[in-house]
Amino acid sequence: MGHVNKEDGMVAARAQASVLTRPSSRLMVERGKPVNVVLMGPPGAGKGTQAGTVARLVDVAHVASGDLLRDLIRQDSEIARQVKAFMDRGDLVPDDLTLAIVMARLAEPDCANGFILDGFPRTVTQARELDSRLAARGRRIDRVIDLIVPEDVLLARLSGRWLCRDCHSSYHVLFSPPTTPGVCDRCGGPLYQRNDDTLETARRRLEVYDHDTRPVLEYYRAAGILVDVPGDRSVGEVTEALREAIVTQPDAL
Ligand code: AMP
Repeated sequence: MGHVNKEDGMVAARAQASVLTRPSSRLMVERGKPVNVVLMGPPGAGKGTQAGTVARLVDVAHVASGDLLRDLIRQDSEIARQVKAFMDRGDLVPDDLTLAIVMARLAEPDCANGFILDGFPRTVTQARELDSRLAARGRRIDRVIDLIVPEDVLLARLSGRWLCRDCHSSYHVLFSPPTTPGVCDRCGGPLYQRNDDTLETARRRLEVYDHDTRPVLEYYRAAGILVDVPGDRSVGEVTEALREAIVTQPDAL
């Protein structure tokens, strides 16, 4: 979401080149096995901006619970209306429903090579359930990354955000405007503002994060798989730091 200057572009391009010149099978050999990652961080930290790019770089699926829920609320059903009400207020959708949707997505074939979870888990219940349901499938979370950004930066980023309806790319009126207003640079899709991106709802979402989601960080810290990555830097620098945090072997951290 930060402004992309020439240098950032070069950092991102270098990161991309260094990975894309290697066939993904070699990356798998270097990693040894599929890598399952949780990307944590408050709303506005840049998870959505980064997760898709980083997932392509390390050749795993990007699974964003917010995107899955936004797809759901486009349906005409009572459950869709109930979920929309939670989301519009900036409150969390109940654990059972969110878990069911995310676990179904993780069972899809493109997640077999690993995944980056973005926006999930957001409660300790979700984190515990995720662990036990993955264990039942012989899988586990390998790495959790906390993207750290100061609160004043988060609020500025959250009000002014525009998203692509088709590919979910993220823009900002001040920091990273699209070339043509209202049109996605990447895929040409229409841009829209989320109902929950007002200043008031952004504040509410940050409160919910502090109350419900911060304890999840402690849960993963206790498990010894949490890595901190500073997120208040250029888009390209954060991309490279995230890639590094994912491909580095745990004992080398
Ligand atoms: P996001 O796109 O990740 O900012 O999520 C947008 C909204 O979707 C949140 O404010 C919640 O209302 C809902 N949501 C997304 N992920 C979860 C989750 N893991 N648990 C509960 N609600 C969620």
